[in-house]
Amino acid sequence: MVILYEAYGNLYINMTNRCPCACTFCLRQTRDEMEGSGSLWLEREPTVEEIKAEFDKFDVEKYGEIVFCGFGEPTERLDDMLEVCRFIRANFDKKIRINTNGLCDLIHGRDTAPMFSGLADIISISLNTPNKERYLELTRSKFGIGSFDAMLKFAENVGKYVETVVLSTVATTLTEEEEKECAQICRKIGVTYRIRPFEED
Ligand code: SF4
Repeated sequence: MVILYEAYGNLYINMTNRCPCACTFCLRQTRDEMEGSGSLWLEREPTVEEIKAEFDKFDVEKYGEIVFCGFGEPTERLDDMLEVCRFIRANFDKKIRINTNGLCDLIHGRDTAPMFSGLADIISISLNTPNKERYLELTRSKFGIGSFDAMLKFAENVGKYVETVVLSTVATTLTEEEEKECAQICRKIGVTYRIRPFEED
């Protein structure tokens, strides 16, 4: 199983294939791997101990960041993910980024932001669009129309506990007007807005 893989100069962690969304643009629909990683479809979810052991196979020092991002939503395994963060904090001097759909509170039915305190440096969330109806059309979140607002609330809350929160949209997918609306939303909740190239994570 591919649990850790390198891409874009960073070391990525693939710990689950679960996700409450079925995004129309999800890369999982058209490919099995990222940047020559090997298949990111897991036979089963690796245990925390297996994930920790996997770090022995890599020269962690050579990577820019350690990123939770695979073929699934990492916060589906929130407690396990945070335990791996603690392990990284204890063993490596690297920035920790969590790429997430931001639906953590809905997945776990509570305000999860305080749990991230001191355990991540960057939370990167896909904003996709400034419009909640369009967001649901694109993500097909199982949580329905409340998903967009819950994602924004999580982004705002978690900003109190981590250094940087980034909400991103993909270049060329929105009008200039929509990008301005996204920037405004981000300003209002005090997070960074980023327009990223397609596929870069
Ligand atoms: S949130 Fe991410 S993993 Fe889940 S369906 Fe959307 S793009 Fe795919």
